[in-house]
Amino acid sequence: MRVIILGCGTATGVPIIGCNCSTCTSNNPKNKRTRTSVFVQTHKKNILIDTSTDLRFQALSHDIRRIDAVLYTHSHADHTHGIDELRTYNFVNKMVIPCYGNPQTVSTIKMNFRYIFDGSYAAGGKPQLEITSVTDEFDFHGIRITPIEIHHADWQIFGYRIGKMAYLTDCSGIPEKSVKKLRGLDLLIIDALRYTPHSAHFSVDQAVERTRIIEPRLAVLTHMGHELEYDELSRVLPEGMMPAYDGMEFELDEA
Ligand SMILES: [Zn+2]
Ligand SMILES: [Zn+2]
Ligand SMILES: [Zn+2]
Repeated sequence: MRVIILGCGTATGVPIIGCNCSTCTSNNPKNKRTRTSVFVQTHKKNILIDTSTDLRFQALSHDIRRIDAVLYTHSHADHTHGIDELRTYNFVNKMVIPCYGNPQTVSTIKMNFRYIFDGSYAAGGKPQLEITSVTDEFDFHGIRITPIEIHHADWQIFGYRIGKMAYLTDCSGIPEKSVKKLRGLDLLIIDALRYTPHSAHFSVDQAVERTRIIEPRLAVLTHMGHELEYDELSRVLPEGMMPAYDGMEFELDEA
């Protein structure tokens, strides 16, 4: 199973338009972060988690030629606004793309992108998608996909577990019942926006503390803002944890 961090930046991306801070002006490519998304390839299927604002750039950067399914974590703009890029995959792959999310995410996406899902809208110029609400673990062509309920401020959104990888972006709390679903991970990708607390995201300290409870073999921080400079953050993280960077790649056992 192959996992690629397509983007690990917060909603603004890094650098932020108009910002002169040391991270935004850094020459280190690891400080250049597109909007948060991850690509998972397993059982010969290509699964995309979220359609970030930067999806086109990310797909071209990694030569992703096929998307078999999209899993949505939630409906915030930075996680959904690349949805129209799926149209290109309809042409290339000649198939309607199945998309999944929790009921709230699905209804908000349908409302926000009415031109895609409203059957009465003039045909042509829109992606062909089939979006389905899920509330529990489901099977996709032999791949077991486990939604992990997490808090994002006062929202209940989804993280996802596939095999021994779990992806918890935009996370400000993990209920006990979800922690139980995160045992035995080889890779945990977890939200850490900045050093100081935030109502909708873990801080670095909170991500470290939660990771200690979950005990994955490796944890990688994502959805990072410009407060987090790659080298500086790498130095302060405990063993077994590291900041993500765009294009970071992992090979994991399937089971
Ligand atoms: Zn976000
Ligand atoms: Zn900055
Ligand atoms: Zn969000």
